[in-house]
Amino acid sequence: MSKFSGANAPMQPTPEMIRNSQTVECECGGVLFSEKLMFKKLSSIVSPTGRDEIIPMPLFICEKCGKVPVIFDPLGLVPTELKTTVEPIEGIQEEAKVVEMKPKQ
Ligand SMILES: [Zn+2]
Repeated sequence: MSKFSGANAPMQPTPEMIRNSQTVECECGGVLFSEKLMFKKLSSIVSPTGRDEIIPMPLFICEKCGKVPVIFDPLGLVPTELKTTVEPIEGIQEEAKVVEMKPKQ
């Protein structure tokens, strides 16, 4: 019953798990990423330490388009100019609007 004995050991996915998992793709279709570092300057006014701090932020940049896919920025911390932009598909939006305006009877 010592299944969780190694509390500090990270859970290792099996090759089977990895094989059956979806590959993370950038919006451009790229699947290779490189790690970069961005830094944020935290002002002493908001810093928990009460001093100016430089916060390193690791980013994963798509090798193909050089942007950060939205999936890697769930908290929205990455500046917009570094992120991939998901272009709204106008046709679909307009279509949805038309459907919405029609009374359903
Ligand atoms: Zn990309």
